[in-house]
Amino acid sequence: MRRLFSRERMWRRQRDVQRRYDVVIIGAGIHGLAIAYYLCKRGVRSVAVLDRSYLGSGNSGRNTAILRSNYRTPEGIPFYNESIKMWETLAGELEYNLLFSQQGHITVAHSDTTLSGLQVRADANQVLGVNTRLVDPSEIKKMVPAIYIGKAARYPIIGGLYHPPGGNIRHDAVVWGYARAADRMGASIHTHTEVIGITRRNGSVTGVRTVAGDILAGAVVNATSGWCTTIAQMAGVPLPVTSFPLQACVTEPLKPFLNKVIVSANLHVYVNQSGRGELVLGSEIDPYSSYSQRSTLPTLEMIAGHTLELFPSLRDVSIMRQWAGVCDMTPDYSPILGEASQLKGFFLDVGWGTYGFKAGPVAGARIAELIHTGKIPELIRPFLPSRFADRRLVGEKAAAAVST
Ligand SMILES: Cc1cc2nc3c(=O)[nH]c(=O)nc-3n(C[C@H](O)[C@H](O)[C@H](O)COP(=O)(O)OP(=O)(O)OC[C@H]3O[C@@H](n4cnc5c(N)ncnc54)[C@H](O)[C@@H]3O)c2cc1C
Repeated sequence: MRRLFSRERMWRRQRDVQRRYDVVIIGAGIHGLAIAYYLCKRGVRSVAVLDRSYLGSGNSGRNTAILRSNYRTPEGIPFYNESIKMWETLAGELEYNLLFSQQGHITVAHSDTTLSGLQVRADANQVLGVNTRLVDPSEIKKMVPAIYIGKAARYPIIGGLYHPPGGNIRHDAVVWGYARAADRMGASIHTHTEVIGITRRNGSVTGVRTVAGDILAGAVVNATSGWCTTIAQMAGVPLPVTSFPLQACVTEPLKPFLNKVIVSANLHVYVNQSGRGELVLGSEIDPYSSYSQRSTLPTLEMIAGHTLELFPSLRDVSIMRQWAGVCDMTPDYSPILGEASQLKGFFLDVGWGTYGFKAGPVAGARIAELIHTGKIPELIRPFLPSRFADRRLVGEKAAAAVST
């Protein structure tokens, strides 16, 4: 067992980029780093992760890290549920404290239509063995005394979907934990190394072009979320993805009063309290596509106003920080996982939109399995890139926390 307290470096000092790796992964967010870790675990150690900026500088360091598996489709529920099971043991496996808090997740409904959508999810979850059930307003109030369930609200709460295994985690710790574990097993992590081209010959990928020179690779993985279409374009692989900003903010720290993740499907807002006491508030994507990572006042006003409808007692609380990430939205709100049909050896782990952090472990493990064995794992088969041409979309209406 390692010492409980250690002054060891988190990962090795960055060395020169080698001229060849078995696998080059573009993007050092949770997905790229998880793939590197699970490849190393399988004995594939000639792996490089390249990022044009610092570790977790994309959405992995900007997201609100809510984890849950209360999805709606028979394809999505088992996939995200496998991830929750992996999260439950990940801190021990990585020997790194990830501050995973399975405090429970409640989606409140303010209309009959929403409530019947939540009922469908409760039923589908229970059939597939996921712990989710409908609750009435009085039960919600018992679990969350600060929430307003009275009739004077513009849209009174009429029920909710309670998912006990849901919760949140420390997003930076996850990125650092995967990076440290992958580095210890031999993966090379190169930050500030932008990929500017993909090299190919006779329908197969041969490597990447970077600001630090060309690198040969047997396989290349695109794990660049909001920028995935820019990398795919370099490879000549069109993707049905559009990038939209998604914003979040935190308040000043308060005494602990909220130990559930609260989501309103109708008000399009979610709230939870971090271990430091700050309220973490989020919303839906901005209404226009952009690569901007800047926050905006109209979104802040919307988040604040809708949060006050749920928690009127927060009216004097100050917002401390607000930020944005860039989300890679697909037409069916499901990810795109697998080898591109147009280019052998070019793998996609993209289309994560507003919901991909929770899927880091399962996607990382299954993409590593695919690269290593050449066989498509059943859990990712519904999400293959070919589903668009085959017209087999997986309409996952419960992908965004703020949807039904
Ligand atoms: C505000 C917000 C809240 C969210 N909340 C949640 C949530 O509660 N739960 C949840 O499950 N998901 C959530 N998400 C979504 C989640 O953050 C993402 O789906 C997930 O982090 C994607 O991880 P990734 O590793 O694929 O991409 P990223 O973490 O975005 O990493 C991609 C990396 O690619 C790098 N890159 C781009 N172009 C290049 C290039 N040319 N060369 C080299 N590197 C390049 C970038 O620098 C970046 O570091 C949220 C997102 C945002 C923005």
